[in-house]
Amino acid sequence: MKEVNSNFFLTEEFIEKVLGKNGPLSKMPFYEYRKEQIRLASLFGEILEGKGIMLAEAGTGTGKSLAYLIPAIALKQRVVIATRTKALQDQLADKDVPLAIEILNQKATYLKIKGKANYLCLFYYDRFRRNPLFKDPSETDLYSIVEKWATTTKTGEKSELKELPEEIDFWNQINIRQERCLLSKCPFFEDCFLFRLKRNAEKADIIITNHHILFADCSLKAKNVSASVLPSFNNLIIDEAHDAEDSATTFFGVSVSKRMIEEWIYDCLREIQPEKRHKRKSAITEEVERFFTSFADIPERRKLNIEEISLAKNNLNSMISSLSNFHASLEKKIPEDIFIGLNERLKNISESLSFIIEEETRDYVKSIEKRNSNVVLSASPINVGNLIRETLVSKMKSLILTSATLSVNDSFDYISKRLGINADFHSIRIESPFDFRSQGLFFIPDSFPDPNSEEFLPNAIATIKNLIDFSNGRAFVLCTSIKNMKAIYEILKNDTRFPIFIQGDMPKGALLKEFREKGNAILVATSSFWQGIDVQGEALSLVVLDKIPFASPSEPLVEARIQELKEKGEDPFNLYQLPMAAMILKQGMGRLIRSKTDKGVVACLDSRLITKGYGKRMLKSLPPFPVTHSLDLVKSFFSRLK
Ligand code: SF4
Repeated sequence: MKEVNSNFFLTEEFIEKVLGKNGPLSKMPFYEYRKEQIRLASLFGEILEGKGIMLAEAGTGTGKSLAYLIPAIALKQRVVIATRTKALQDQLADKDVPLAIEILNQKATYLKIKGKANYLCLFYYDRFRRNPLFKDPSETDLYSIVEKWATTTKTGEKSELKELPEEIDFWNQINIRQERCLLSKCPFFEDCFLFRLKRNAEKADIIITNHHILFADCSLKAKNVSASVLPSFNNLIIDEAHDAEDSATTFFGVSVSKRMIEEWIYDCLREIQPEKRHKRKSAITEEVERFFTSFADIPERRKLNIEEISLAKNNLNSMISSLSNFHASLEKKIPEDIFIGLNERLKNISESLSFIIEEETRDYVKSIEKRNSNVVLSASPINVGNLIRETLVSKMKSLILTSATLSVNDSFDYISKRLGINADFHSIRIESPFDFRSQGLFFIPDSFPDPNSEEFLPNAIATIKNLIDFSNGRAFVLCTSIKNMKAIYEILKNDTRFPIFIQGDMPKGALLKEFREKGNAILVATSSFWQGIDVQGEALSLVVLDKIPFASPSEPLVEARIQELKEKGEDPFNLYQLPMAAMILKQGMGRLIRSKTDKGVVACLDSRLITKGYGKRMLKSLPPFPVTHSLDLVKSFFSRLK
């Protein structure tokens, strides 16, 4: 590690003047002097003002957002901030950045940039408005809300419509999609929300975006495609960086879904006379169905095998030629700009499918997965670190990666390697100011069936029932698989006096709102609830983790990454599977204590944490809750809270 240079103006002294006891922040009613926040901010300042890379783990409650925003704004250069979640992006743009600008008493422009699909496309909205076709007729009332809003919105950003559900079908017909954008041929080009956003981004000092946009931008720039939204920048802060590898894998990969093809067909059919639609539709959808029958037995996600790839090659040619013929038959019968847009989309589908099905490469994993009623074919890069290094890390003057969980056993080796950071970097770990020793308890049963045995689930359910009784509901039960989540929910829902929800009951935001409002509810969920969820107060007093969240070694990408490490003569368990599981476990535990007044119990029903050597090592990198193996102690802990 390098020593941090301290010869710049964004020093601890400067930060102290802003965030310290006599600074402008101290006049705010919520002010709390945080020595560690000042230290962190001054280190961030030195990186931003000088150059280099910093990995900073800052536990929950350290105030890391202000710690990076103060030097980023004071720097007076463009800084891009990328978060994992839209929730953090909104919090930064709506609350933290305006506050930082106010206390610095400095002029600075900032802009929030979300994924294109979050914005209204004026061209496709105009077409829809003239001829609204709802796949789901119950959405017509919601459409009237959009119609009213569309005449007044200045940004076209869907999140302005708080009353609109997250998932809404007709939004996909009127939002911005790169593949169908008509660019300068569009009659709405001058007023387009996307291009307005791009123009504003060129003038902004601080850009608040998310990992998806960041890596989509890198991927587009790497392919020399001029469709990126972000302007040029060389100062970057990646918050929630523990999850950056996953987003990068998605955007450096290629995928095509069955729904994407169906939507293309739907958009073509919109252009022809209604009486001719049915006949044309059945002929082409038959070809699409035939292509997808090349793949038998599609579970959650699996690798493509050689037999189906060879069958799919023939069916792919036939499907693409059928789609192309259909498209060609529309020439001169539909507006030229629409015809060209549809052609671009078909070209994109065809090239992506050719890559997935036909390209022989050892650098990508080809897989198929079922997502609800949709089927997705993908090619995902095995080693995304090299791509991140080439397209992003090597181009930055200053780069800060931060999160509440970045290290494992005091080391940043795992995350730095996964994200392609091989050069010298600075690193710092700042403990959470929460007093885990007095605020909580960590229950690990000392004698419990192996998590892979048949006896595990019945025992886990019996223990969860006890724990929930002690805590009076107020619990998250976080599972490592959909199978466990469903099994636990099915038993508990008939055997509990508390309101109970399962992930998928309703959109995530609505589910959390219900959970908070009930005050004594149970939520049974899987991976997406292990991180980025913030429920403060008594409504969440128990977090149960079914087992150590090892990624399944049969998951195609995990399998390929394990194989890659083996071929290099490295130890995949200790270098990849174990640290990845430790980071997720830390995230899961992090759901419990979100403020200095929160109290509660975390339970992990996996005895390997205390019986295996690796479990004991993992335990050392977790928040320092007192550990107990006794359910009686858990019971008395909750009794004392009453
Ligand atoms: S330029 Fe593209 S994104 Fe903008 S309104 Fe036109 S089609 Fe939509």
